[in-house]
Amino acid sequence: MLDEEFREIYEDLILDHQQDPRNFGSMANPTHRADGFNRSCGDRIQLSLKIDDDRIQEVKFTGSGCAISTASASLMTQALQGKTRAEAEILAKQFRDLVMGNDPGDATSVAEPVDLGELQFLSGVKQFPIRVKCATLCWHTLQAALNRKIDDSVSTE
Ligand code: ZN
Repeated sequence: MLDEEFREIYEDLILDHQQDPRNFGSMANPTHRADGFNRSCGDRIQLSLKIDDDRIQEVKFTGSGCAISTASASLMTQALQGKTRAEAEILAKQFRDLVMGNDPGDATSVAEPVDLGELQFLSGVKQFPIRVKCATLCWHTLQAALNRKIDDSVSTE
């Protein structure tokens, strides 16, 4: 694909998801949640997941941030829909490799890659190193959320 074509898709995608973020809002009964904050830009995200039978049934996010962080979170929530926890972890790893410019063919890459779909176009942020943290914030938050199950049996402090 031509660089110019790629950049056009990248810019359109960011604009589209910034103006109309998908799965934006709060969730009634999440099973997992986490907050993320990107100090260098001021982006904030609250991520809620509903995981049932090891599969992500619902993903929602709220917060405020720059165009890249919002678009990345929006695209992430779409990509996570219906994925297993393991697939979500693989996606997170692949996405970080992609935008941080790690060689996907190196030994640390995953054995069975998941299709990144439109997320692949966010690799355009590589040209703006300061923006990489904006794009990866939601993915770091996802990993925190996956490890932070809400235990409703805990009621006292
Ligand atoms: Zn940002």
